[in-house]
Amino acid sequence: MAEQAATWPETGIGLLYSAVRGAHVCLSRAADYLVAVNGDNVPGTKAMNMGDIVLTPGFNMSKERRTTLANHEARHRAQWAIATAMAGPFAFPVAYAVESFFFPGSRNLFERQAGLGSGGYRHVGLGPVLGPAQIGALVAVVALIAAAVGRRHLRAGRRMPGRHRRDRLSRAGPPRSV
Ligand SMILES: [Zn+2]
Repeated sequence: MAEQAATWPETGIGLLYSAVRGAHVCLSRAADYLVAVNGDNVPGTKAMNMGDIVLTPGFNMSKERRTTLANHEARHRAQWAIATAMAGPFAFPVAYAVESFFFPGSRNLFERQAGLGSGGYRHVGLGPVLGPAQIGALVAVVALIAAAVGRRHLRAGRRMPGRHRRDRLSRAGPPRSV
């Protein structure tokens, strides 16, 4: 119940989206979890978890397999709940996207926690995938940090004109009395 409460903003967005797309929303009683069938997905994903609801183009699988998948998706709800409590409703999708970028598919930590087998993932490896895109992103992040640090140094230097003035005064010697 706490997880449902913590993820209601995402669930709301998921429900709204499903309503707009005319999806059939039902409740998986096994996982106490909402499933929106025929809700369109982000391209390339089989099922998309939005807090307490999963959007899917439809399950072409046995009832048993469906229950297993609903349990897997319900575990993502726990991750949504924790991330939302820590950093707001968009924390999980952002963290998930960053994680997926470097650790796609079965390498993804969130998927590993939710259960690879139940999510329909085949285990392929643990390490990050470092293709040109990933290396490019890392270089861009390092460049951004370097730029931010450099700018702070510049600002700090500009903020101390007083010191220079004092230097000039001391070089000119103490004010002479007449
Ligand atoms: Zn998953």
